[in-house]
Formats: sequence, structure tokens, C-alpha cells
Amino acid sequence: MSLPLLYIIVPCYNEEEVLPITAPLFHTQILLLINKGKIAPDSRILFVDDGSTDRTWKIIGELSEIDDAYCGIRQSRNRGHQNALVAGLMEAKDRCDITITVDCDGQDDITAIERMVDAYLDGADIVYGVRNDRKSDSFAKRHSAQSFYRWMKRLGGEVVYNHADYRLVDRRALDAFADFGEVHLFLRGMFPLVGFKSTTVEYTRTERVAGKSKYPFRKSLGLALDGITGLSVKPLRIIMFLGVLVSLLSVVGIIWTIIAHFIGHTVPGWSSLTCILCFVSGVQLLCLGVIGEYVGKIFTEVKHRPRYIISERTENFNK
Ligand code: UDP
Ligand code: MG
Repeated sequence: MSLPLLYIIVPCYNEEEVLPITAPLFHTQILLLINKGKIAPDSRILFVDDGSTDRTWKIIGELSEIDDAYCGIRQSRNRGHQNALVAGLMEAKDRCDITITVDCDGQDDITAIERMVDAYLDGADIVYGVRNDRKSDSFAKRHSAQSFYRWMKRLGGEVVYNHADYRLVDRRALDAFADFGEVHLFLRGMFPLVGFKSTTVEYTRTERVAGKSKYPFRKSLGLALDGITGLSVKPLRIIMFLGVLVSLLSVVGIIWTIIAHFIGHTVPGWSSLTCILCFVSGVQLLCLGVIGEYVGKIFTEVKHRPRYIISERTENFNK
């Protein structure tokens, strides 16, 4: 069997402080694996510039001029981490045998790349990088992430616990993934649906080597919502059961009202009436909001807009 050609796919958004530090580290990892005879000598690092407004694209261009092991593509505008990953994966799909997606900020321990390749050589099509702890997260991020994974599981979405987007996917799995046409992406929940043989590799996540997180709370919440609504319709079913429960309670309420009317206690009912009104209208609005979330998703999905648009490629991209 010939050696597998590896593309390490690295999304970057305004990462001028980080790239000069981490790019050589990815390169060293590739050289190490080439020297050990585990991957093909023309394996590379594919940077995906997600519409950065700083010097990120310039740095990627300079790197590609120094060494063909570095190449890059640029999105026409900022589309978000998940779309940047899909752009990289789809561009790499027909050029290599295996892809590994990894953040560019040095948080993910890149020595796990070798263990991922070993797992592939042992027969796995998808290898999920799984964090062995969440010590490097803030208190809020750690707890919100953990409760998200628990809720996701309860709602029927299949996700690998503590896996983000550090992942090896081979060509066979990528070909199957290419048929998943959704615009709202939650890749860590989509790859388990692709199937094939998969395994996990543990790694330690540390602090960013430089710069600030590009994932504020608002974006994380959006990703979590995309995850839940993209993988499960259980929230809609919960609404139905809630509707049944509230209706049953209403029947009790009506009986109570009629009895109170005949007994003659009709005037001092203001507080209870207001409470019921507030509760029921709150539940209704919440339910409408959840339904609206799904309707909104249908609205954007039916348009079939492209998930990424590439504006530039480094000159050595097709070498
Ligand atoms: N990223 C991206 N587009 C965005 C936001 C982030 O390509 O709109 C990249 C970013 O450059 C990094 C990765 O996605 O390589 C993860 O982002 P970040 O490290 O800021 O997230 P965090 O680790 O704080 O959750
Ligand atoms: Mg990060």
C-alpha cells in the first residue's frame, strides 16, 4: 500500500499574531511523520483564511512562497469557523487520502496528529480528537459546554463527548459527507452520521499561544442552537407534550372556575387569573420561538446558497 497523502486543514480568522508561531509547528509534525514513513512526502498544510481583515492572508502567501508544504485558500468574506472547515475539506477531498482539521491557535496538542494517523493506518476512517479535561476553559465555558453535550444527548443528537473539530477524516468518509447538503453546519454532529469505522484519540487542550478567541459567547450559542436544531426534532415533540399538559391543567382550571362561580367566589380571583395568564402566555411564546427557530432554518436551507465561496488561492495550490 502506498503512503497516505495528508492535508492538515487549518482555519484562520484574523490570526496574524498566531500564524508565525504555529505554522512551523504544523510543518515539523508533517516532516516527522514523513521521516517515520507514515505519510506521503508531498503532504501539506492547507490554511483557510476565513475573510480576515488583518495580515493573515499575506502571511499565508509568504509561507507558501517559502515552502510548498504550505498552501492556502481564502474565503470571499467571513463565514464562520464551520464554513471555513467545509471549504478546506471540500477543496482537499480530491487531492489527498486523509485530512486532519485543527485550529491554528496552538490550543490543540498537535502531537495527537501522529496518533490519529496511526489509528487511520489501523483501519479507522474517522478519528475524533477528544479533550481529556477542560482545565484550560473558563468556568462559564466549561459548564455551558458540558451541559450542552448532556442536553444534546438527551435530545437525540449523536455527538462524541468533549470532541470539537480536531478530527481526522479519510477520503471515503469525505466523499460520503459531500452528499450532506445542509447550510447550517454542525460538523461534530454530522460526521457521526456519516458512519464508517471510527475511533477516538485523547489530547490535552491548552491556552492560545497568542491573540484572542474569535468565538465570543454569541457565536458559541449560535453553534449550539445549530447543533440542536440541525440534529434533532425532539424540541418540537417536547412542545407537543407541553401543549397536552397545559391543556389538561386548563381543564382543571375551567372546572375550578365554574365551581367558584356557583359558590359565589368570583371577585377575589384577580391574582390567580393573572398568574395563569402570565404562565400560559410565557409558555406559548417560548413554544412559538422554538417553532420559529425551525421555520427560520427551513427558510435558509431551501435557498441552497453556497456554503463557501473562494476568492483566492495561493499560487502553489495546484502543485
Ligand atoms: N475561526 C474562523 N472563523 C471565525 C472564527 C474562528 O475560521 O469566524 C477559526 C480561528 O481562527 C481558529 C478556530 O476557528 O483557528 C477556532 O477559533 P478560536 O480559537 O477563536 O475559538 P475558541 O478556541 O476560543 O473556542
Ligand atoms: Mg482556540
